[in-house]
Amino acid sequence: MTQVYDDNNIFAKMLRNEIPCHKVYEDEKTLAFMDIMPQAKGHVLVIPKHPAVDLADMTPEYAAAVLMTAQKVMQAQRQVFDREGIVQMQFNGAQAGQTVFHYHVHLIPSSIHELGRHGSEQADQNELAEQAQQLRDVIAQMSAS
Ligand code: 5GP
Repeated sequence: MTQVYDDNNIFAKMLRNEIPCHKVYEDEKTLAFMDIMPQAKGHVLVIPKHPAVDLADMTPEYAAAVLMTAQKVMQAQRQVFDREGIVQMQFNGAQAGQTVFHYHVHLIPSSIHELGRHGSEQADQNELAEQAQQLRDVIAQMSAS
């Protein structure tokens, strides 16, 4: 059974700037930020500025916007973390492993064989801030060229 969207989920609070996050990229329809419990160094989440629990609630407009942001972030991750392999994951429903019920795409510089545990250990905030800055710098360069 699909959950009803809860305006007080943690990502909705981030979108309202009620709780902080290390922003990587933001535009009119999406926000990308560092995952606080990364499954590998450089783990980023991309969310729509739209109240969707999971893929079933996504509109074509926001689905496309999330993918376009994911593409930017993935290209920046390749440069910053100097690796080709970036895992893109997305869970629909608690049974599938979803724990935050605002649609999000995971972008993880890792491989299916090396992935760390899901949402298990909080990363150092300074490291997350530095990685977010590196990604922002590369995205800014990409936009300028
Ligand atoms: P899900 O299990 O729903 O696919 O993924 C939720 C993700 O959100 C997990 O990878 C988890 O580490 C991340 N997460 C949970 N709470 C927070 C938070 O407060 N801030 C950030 N940046 N990430 C969070």
